[in-house]
Amino acid sequence: MPRVLLIEDDAGVRTAMHRHLTERGFAVTSAATGLAGLAAVTGQRPDLILLDLGLPDVEGIDVLRMIRAVSRAPVLVATARDEEAGIVLALDLGADDYLVKPFGPAHLAARVNALLRRAASPARAAVIEVGGLVIDPAARIARLDGTPLDLAPREFDMLAYLAGRSGEVIAKRELLAEVWQHSYGGAEKTVDVHLSWLRRKLGESATRPRYLHTVHGVGIRLAAPR
Ligand code: CA
Repeated sequence: MPRVLLIEDDAGVRTAMHRHLTERGFAVTSAATGLAGLAAVTGQRPDLILLDLGLPDVEGIDVLRMIRAVSRAPVLVATARDEEAGIVLALDLGADDYLVKPFGPAHLAARVNALLRRAASPARAAVIEVGGLVIDPAARIARLDGTPLDLAPREFDMLAYLAGRSGEVIAKRELLAEVWQHSYGGAEKTVDVHLSWLRRKLGESATRPRYLHTVHGVGIRLAAPR
């Protein structure tokens, strides 16, 4: 379910957009101010951000600038009809598209879907090879010495992330943030559990590692066996 963050101060507009998007299958979070919106961008890592340019606390343009400093999620800006200069500036600053108010729910959903499609299919992610491990992130296929691995989605994501950075020690906290998309404290156990499942599927163990090496107190490093 794609996660959409809605930053809009007008309660009526916000409620209506929230409802329209929820009805169309999006997981919607909303914020009534620029600052609350920014907190949600970093805290929730939405897949798309809908940003009203006229906000009460911080100029929408400045909110956009701050969003772009921390997120690559597509940003769809919404403006009033007479804000052409604002639209041009927003697009220059990295907004992906804009909507002029008032707009209908179908139009809104179409723009949101188009941006999410575009974001989901950047230049196809390259196939990763580390020793006998071959991972195709786009096709979500992983093979070890030619044999397909039967991995659960999180196991695949974790393996692909580690393999994409092979040779580097990756902190468990980073894995939690990147693979699980949130950084709740104290859940590094989640990483450990998935790591042990992954090891079993790769035919190795913590005491006899081949690809997956635990660096105690630091994190995990994936490397080709010697
Ligand atoms: Ca407004």
